[in-house]
Amino acid sequence: MAIKKVCVVGSGTMGSGIAQVSAQAGYETIMVDVTQELVDRGMNMIKTSLGKFVEKGRMKQEEMEGALARLHTSTDVKEAARNADYVIEAVFERAEVKLPILKQLEEACPKQTILASNTSGIPIGLLASATKRPDKVIGTHFMNPVPLMRGVEIIKSLLTSEETLKVTLDFVSSLGKETVVVKDSPGFVTNRIITLVLNEGAKLLEENLANIEDMDKIIRLSFNWPMGPFELADLIGIDVTVDLLEGIYQQTGWERYKPAPLLKRMVEIGYTGRKVGKGFYQLFAKA
Ligand code: NAD
Repeated sequence: MAIKKVCVVGSGTMGSGIAQVSAQAGYETIMVDVTQELVDRGMNMIKTSLGKFVEKGRMKQEEMEGALARLHTSTDVKEAARNADYVIEAVFERAEVKLPILKQLEEACPKQTILASNTSGIPIGLLASATKRPDKVIGTHFMNPVPLMRGVEIIKSLLTSEETLKVTLDFVSSLGKETVVVKDSPGFVTNRIITLVLNEGAKLLEENLANIEDMDKIIRLSFNWPMGPFELADLIGIDVTVDLLEGIYQQTGWERYKPAPLLKRMVEIGYTGRKVGKGFYQLFAKA
């Protein structure tokens, strides 16, 4: 199956990044959101990111212009998806938002179109149930920031066909990404592991084992990680971390995924991380 036209639903952090790498790879790409203001914001994020690649000499000016010429926007999901060969949804991480979109896509897209979701943890099988083509529904879990991160988790539900998997692996590889296939399970692989690290970090802080600078330092130096758990939690967002933990905890009942009380207290007082300029490093940094 030849993919020419790609539709990305949601123009936020992830949707704009996915639309960018799709256009960079040569696909005609249409990015959808609910208002013109939101798609414009997404386009601006893309322009800034491409501009940085050009500035650093990692992309030619003509390549940037080519990618931008292949990018289109819309506020009408049905119209945007009408001719799409491959659709990726990257809207809010809530089943009640994603399911109606999958239904609309089911109605609007050609029968053979694959419907992929960038969900961080909602079961792909559940999303597939909103469509009459569960064999063509799959998870493509890109990482943030999409233009820089090379890994993509591909999630195959019990009903995803081998053909859908093959087309998806080829498509995602063509975006310059490395893929790993995982089963449809809560949190997949990446979030099963990283949420535990962040949760345990918060518990160590509750126990006053050491200060956050020292804990981040020893993890960076010991394991050659670019960031320690507190730096990473501030980057990912404390609210996102709590949601991910709670999602896995609710689906499995495993105590180890119960969010540390400190994380919940931080969300309640609005310390949700770097995106709001207030996180671990503002609350707990050494004076
Ligand atoms: P975001 O809040 O930045 O963007 C979501 C966008 O979806 C918003 O612009 C919103 O207006 C739009 N949207 C909501 N309802 C819509 C609708 N009906 N039609 C069209 N657009 C609609 O969120 P994000 O961080 O980009 O996350 C998107 C998805 O990617 C989520 O499922 C999230 O779990 C997943 N994800 C996020 C990250 C991350 O680090 N941010 C990493 C991996 C996966």
